[in-house]
Parts: sequence; structure tokens; C-alpha cells
Amino acid sequence: MPTRDYYNILGVNRKADAEEIKKAYRRLARQWHPDHNPGSAKAAERFKDIQEAWEALRDPEERARYDRLGPFYRPEGRPPRPDELHEVFDSVLGNLFRSRSKGERDLQYTLALSLEEVASGVNKELVVPRMVRCETCTGSGADPDQGKRTCEVCGGSGKATGPRLWRTACYHCEGRGFTVERPCPTCAGAGLHEREDKVTVQVPAGVASGQKLKLAGKGNESRGRGTPGDLLVSVSVSEHPLFLRRGEDIVLDLPLTIAEATLGTEARVPTLEGTAVIRIPPGTAAGKTLRLQGRGLPRVDRGPRGDLHLRVILEVPTQLSEAQSSALAAWARSLPPESHPQRAALDLAVRNRS
Ligand SMILES: [Zn+2]
Ligand SMILES: [Zn+2]
Repeated sequence: MPTRDYYNILGVNRKADAEEIKKAYRRLARQWHPDHNPGSAKAAERFKDIQEAWEALRDPEERARYDRLGPFYRPEGRPPRPDELHEVFDSVLGNLFRSRSKGERDLQYTLALSLEEVASGVNKELVVPRMVRCETCTGSGADPDQGKRTCEVCGGSGKATGPRLWRTACYHCEGRGFTVERPCPTCAGAGLHEREDKVTVQVPAGVASGQKLKLAGKGNESRGRGTPGDLLVSVSVSEHPLFLRRGEDIVLDLPLTIAEATLGTEARVPTLEGTAVIRIPPGTAAGKTLRLQGRGLPRVDRGPRGDLHLRVILEVPTQLSEAQSSALAAWARSLPPESHPQRAALDLAVRNRS
């Protein structure tokens, strides 16, 4: 752990004499001793830091070596290895950039939409549980009635003195400039609490599953002055019982009776917005697709709307009475072979082979 400012950890000036260092160490070691903070990982970590700082600064010779080497100092007295030098630079650069990230404040939300909602576009009200700054303590975590004390080490600036290369936040107040003497009664010191907020999201027409809508600033707030995160709404379009989506186009299976397909008809079909009438020409074959232009989905980019494709299927009648069956058989017998040219060609092929 070379990238530590030991003076910052002990909260003493770089010119502090041996007696001051000893006093600071004793006070902090008592405060953060694991026996006084059972089960606290943070206390254990701090106690280790404090021990390490004390080991380096208690002995004048070791202290002089530390002052000379700075971030390249190693408690064991050996020079740093090349990989450890990388570690020094990585952690210094890491500290510079980490404070700008607000990724962990972003919230994810999955929004289920029907195809009809995709067609029209819709405003949806979401109830989003998010972390917001505590109103009682405005995020400090301290009782507003004198629960805060200015950090003695940095005098309230939140900044550590010492080389710039090291972390610049004060170790004792974690850069906040104050310590909490008595926690806020509302949030018990957390500075944040969960609140269910109603958020309206405007879903544009034509969105597809997997697309994300970003609501800037509607994610979690931070304790301090940082900007709140974003709310990322993932769209998930539910399967429709009738329509199949193909990009901007939609497909509908259109069952016709043998009589309708043979003689032609006018069929009323469902669309996303209501119904439409389509003319079926006589002799329409199964598998043929009829197109209703512009009755598909709108495009997010406001280009032309997609189409509604009607895929013809022939529905074979079942559960016929005896009279219906014989009428159908009589009708079939009355037809010449030319009425079914494909079937006639197959029958001819069979005869030629026997
Ligand atoms: Zn509070
Ligand atoms: Zn401080």
C-alpha cells in the first residue's frame, strides 16, 4: 500500500514532531480499534492504515526515507518492482477519474408495451423507487441541531495537505470537511433515503424491444453535490395474440373458406387502430399475401409507416353433416379436371409411372 499519505492518515502536519505523531497515533488507534468497533469492516481497514502509518513515521530514519521516496516508499525497505510502479500510477489516475463517474447512480427500468401502444406512442407513468437526499440533513447524515463538527484535521476544507500526487481528500472526513457527532434522526446518518417517485416517460411511436429511453437526472441522488444519475428505461414489447411484428411491418394470418377463396369476397380485418375492409379477388390461393399499405407501425424517425400484410390460409371445413358431405362430393364430381390444373398434372405423372 504505497499510495498513502501517512501524514494525512494520522492527521498531522508534515513538520509534526515525534510527540505529536505519537499522540495522534494513540488517539486514532483507540478510536478505530476493532475491539471498540466490532464487526465494522471500515474500522478494521482504518486500523490497519493507522498501524502502517505509525510504523513508517515512528522511527526517524524510516520517516526520512518515507519523506524522500513518497509514493515509491515500501514499508519493507526494498525498491518498488516495475509492476508496483504501474500500480502507483494506476491508482493515482484512478483517483482522478473515479469521482466523475455517476454510473452507479443510474437506474434501470424495464417497461412492457403492447403493440397498440407502440403504434400510437404513449405517455407512461412509472413508479420508481430511487435514493434521494435526506431533507432533514440535506445529505450530510448529521443531526441538523449541532450534530456536525468541523473536521479538525483539514479545518473544514476537506482537502489534505501534502504532495498533489496523493489522494487529495482529507482522510478523516473523507473529503467532506466535517465529521458526524450525532447522526440525523431521519436517515440514521445515511444522508439518503428511498422514495417512490412518479416519473412520466414519453414513449415515441415505433419503438422496438431492447431500445432504451434515457431520463436524465431521474436516477439516484448522491449525498454530496454530485449530479443525480439517469433513469434508463428499457422497452420490452409484448407478443400480440393476432399480429406478428416484422420491423415496421406487421403480419396477420387471414383464414378464408374454400368458397370465399374461390369466389372472392370482401373481408373485414382487424388492424392496430380498428378494422379495415379488403377485397379478396376470386381464385385467391392459400399462402398469398395481400398488403394494406401504411397500416403497419410508424417509424421512430418519422419515415413512412410500415404495411399490414395479410397471409391467406385456407380453412378446411370440419364436422359436416351427411347432407353437407354429399353436397360437397356432388359439387367436386361436377368439376372438370381443368378446374384443378396442378392436381391434374400430378395425377398424370402417377399414371405415366404405372
Ligand atoms: Zn438525514
Ligand atoms: Zn477533514
